[in-house]
Amino acid sequence: MLNLQEIRNDFPILGREVYGHPLIYLDNGATTQKPRCVIDAMTDEYLNVNANVHRGIHYLSQQATDLHEAARETVRAFINARSTAEIIFTRGTTESINLVASSFGQAFLHDDDEVILTEMEHHSNIVPWQLLQARTRIKIKVCPITDEGRLDLEVLPTLFTKRTRLLCCTYVSNVLGTVNPISELIRQAHEHGVPVLVDAAQAAPHLLLDVQALDCDFLAFSGHKVYGPTGIGVLYGKQQWLDQMPPYMGGGEMIAKVSFEHTTFNELPYKFEAGTPDYIATTGLARALDYVKEIGFNAIQEHESALTNYAREQLSQIPGMRFFGPSDDAVISFLVGDIHHMDLGTLLDRLGVAVRTGHHCAEPLMRRLGIEGTVRASFALYNTFEEIDILIAAINRVRKMF
Ligand code: PLP
Repeated sequence: MLNLQEIRNDFPILGREVYGHPLIYLDNGATTQKPRCVIDAMTDEYLNVNANVHRGIHYLSQQATDLHEAARETVRAFINARSTAEIIFTRGTTESINLVASSFGQAFLHDDDEVILTEMEHHSNIVPWQLLQARTRIKIKVCPITDEGRLDLEVLPTLFTKRTRLLCCTYVSNVLGTVNPISELIRQAHEHGVPVLVDAAQAAPHLLLDVQALDCDFLAFSGHKVYGPTGIGVLYGKQQWLDQMPPYMGGGEMIAKVSFEHTTFNELPYKFEAGTPDYIATTGLARALDYVKEIGFNAIQEHESALTNYAREQLSQIPGMRFFGPSDDAVISFLVGDIHHMDLGTLLDRLGVAVRTGHHCAEPLMRRLGIEGTVRASFALYNTFEEIDILIAAINRVRKMF
């Protein structure tokens, strides 16, 4: 059981008001709020340690480097990677996937090779593959979803061919709340000799990630969705792949030796980390992951799943309610009668309730659902049942205006 009052006290922003109402923050799928310990860890580093990492022989630089590399170890342990060589710091999920598309693409994807995506992918796991397609004539195949908002597992096996080089799939849909049977998908892909990239942006805050148990080849997530700072994310890659992939960007840190004639590259993970990393954010990320671990995924899941079930049940009693997706996880997408999603979201905001509206960066999925957008309520470990009651009351108030 979570001590919710104690947890809420950890998040200073939850005490503020919006338009004279207490803030009800239900846009956690977009970004989560930050606990004071994360803010303090970053402030403390700026106040007392700040120096560029890896380069200086002086005290502060070494201390900053120690914090930065300790953060890498925290991430490694968080996802149970074999080695810190497999943990690459990026700006977020988007950059992690772009890195794989560019670098794995250059090494392993040639004309007429195929990549399988799914119909429920975020634009971050679609567009990088299209950019690659503009350079190399790869084929993008798409696994459809069922009317219930689950991957069509009868179609998926038919998509693998001798030319399939990668399966890219989200673990949890940011729109439908579907938790995909990712272990099973990875097993199937591997049977065809196909590696798998897992977009764990929506999974990292809610589910225990174990890359060795999953046996995924790549996994990407963003710090800001798991109570950490913005501008920092992670790409996990199996060393056997990363070793064979060329660097993504060139610059300082990623080199071994440079001359105008010939440059050699640094060892993993630095080969993929050109330039000054956001070493303050890595400290914040590590503190956020420790915070989540201290609370524990069992308690988090128990609470979030109770919240999600309660919210679905209460929402379903509102006349004209239409749900999109099964909401296995802490995400509920819906529309109410003929009320436009933007109108509903805007009016809820006026009542202090922050939800997401629109296509949620998943336009192909919207097309499949035959809609322009939804209202999305997404929950975090600090949300309460009372907040859901307020959401319901606010929706009912908006309904009366229409
Ligand atoms: N993938 C999924 C499933 C997401 O929900 C998001 C963000 O909403 C992303 C990728 C992109 O994450 P970021 O913008 O942090 O790179």
